[in-house]
Amino acid sequence: MGIITGNHWLMERRTKVIATLGPASSTAEMITQLIQAGTNLFRLNMSHGYHAEHQLNIENIYKIAQALDRPVAILADLCGPKIRVGRFAEGAIVLTAGESVTITTRDILGEPGMICSQYKALAGDVAIGHTILLADGLMELEVEAIEETEISCMVLQGGLLSDHKGMNLPDTDISTPALTDKDKQDATFALHCGVDYLALSFVRDASDVQQLKDLIKAAGSTAGIVAKIERAEALKHVSEIIQVADAMMVARGDLGVELPPEQVPIIQQELILAARMAHKPVIIATQMMESMIENIRPTRAEVSDVSYAVASGADAVMLSAETATGLHPVAVVEMMDRVARETESSMWHNGGFSSFSMQKTSKQELSVSGALAISTAQISRDLQIKSIFVISESGASAAAVSSARPTSPIVAITSFEKTYRKMTLFWGVRSVFERTDKIVNTAALAKQWARTLDVAKDGERILLMRWFHQDPEKSTPSITVLNIV
Ligand code: PGA
Ligand code: MN
Repeated sequence: MGIITGNHWLMERRTKVIATLGPASSTAEMITQLIQAGTNLFRLNMSHGYHAEHQLNIENIYKIAQALDRPVAILADLCGPKIRVGRFAEGAIVLTAGESVTITTRDILGEPGMICSQYKALAGDVAIGHTILLADGLMELEVEAIEETEISCMVLQGGLLSDHKGMNLPDTDISTPALTDKDKQDATFALHCGVDYLALSFVRDASDVQQLKDLIKAAGSTAGIVAKIERAEALKHVSEIIQVADAMMVARGDLGVELPPEQVPIIQQELILAARMAHKPVIIATQMMESMIENIRPTRAEVSDVSYAVASGADAVMLSAETATGLHPVAVVEMMDRVARETESSMWHNGGFSSFSMQKTSKQELSVSGALAISTAQISRDLQIKSIFVISESGASAAAVSSARPTSPIVAITSFEKTYRKMTLFWGVRSVFERTDKIVNTAALAKQWARTLDVAKDGERILLMRWFHQDPEKSTPSITVLNIV
């Protein structure tokens, strides 16, 4: 057998790259370089920074993207009810296995044997026997007794616990909604600045997502919601969450603390499939190239992780501290781009992306958009179509076609600016903006764009998917084969 590597890369990378902006990357020069290196979306972490800083970043990103003529989207990530320990009189305490420690929700400074937490509902939420994890799971406690504001615990795994370290409650159903008062302020601000997506942290169920959806609607925005799956509780409600949300994030950082880490890769696979079945994009996040925060080269294990996410059909791979505070923000985006391209190229040479094809059980009726998406992928393969064109208003048709992971690249034309940027998250989709009055003769328009983008030459064919509408009354979907002459 011959193993082929260094294949000719595809013209367009199918998997999208998200870079978190932070102190290491917040200059106009850096944003320019990150876009040129292949960043498709920027994530702003609302857990850090001031509104004025975020606003400047948002303005810079949109200005630079426009100057470079690239569809770059912005995702504002709301911090949600992240539970933390408070401060200690001495800055830290030592926890020793086998000893007792009390967690209090009273507003005091911690000391040896006493940890405080600002999360007031804690004593009401936990129950005897529940596990409490501290500092990303490095330390472990078990609840032994609860009295009003005081939770007595046994230390199972000790260590040094310092100010403001995170607390995870894998067994506990949290009573606080995912959308906190701070999140509401941050969301309103970010929407006012025109962001394209809001990410909701620690989602429990669909009602959490609905709350944010109502807020977005009230603000008169069409921004999408990325539901971050990072709690065991959310896994029980994935199918409802994905119906209400516009996208999903596999937030492996917190998820890998709340669940045994060995379960995370399997859950990642299942969430990718669940999102695709719902025609919604899915992002794989956290620690993808962690060692590149300092080093110029990733570990081989990190390269394999990114390649695995790409090979599994994720829509996007995300960088966090690597680009926000790391030493090599541009090099890490370039590395992600190369890993994705190499993996996609190999898949393409081994039969397109057919390994992604969705098996439908014989008796199951597909949705109209689902059937159109699968047929589009099939026809594009059978006819060796060079490019699939979709005319999309909300982005839903483009997301449906993308979910079938066709071999041919997808060009999605829209006259809505937000849709133009939102579609940049979708696997294999290249966004094109066109004024409403130009979207009349769509066949001529698609042909014209095929030439402009140089995706099909004379004698080659493109597919055009159009007139699909979510409202059945307005929907007269069609798939047309167009010859470029
Ligand atoms: P965070 O979310 O970086 O905001 O914590 C991602 C994760 O938990 O993986
Ligand atoms: Mn998280």
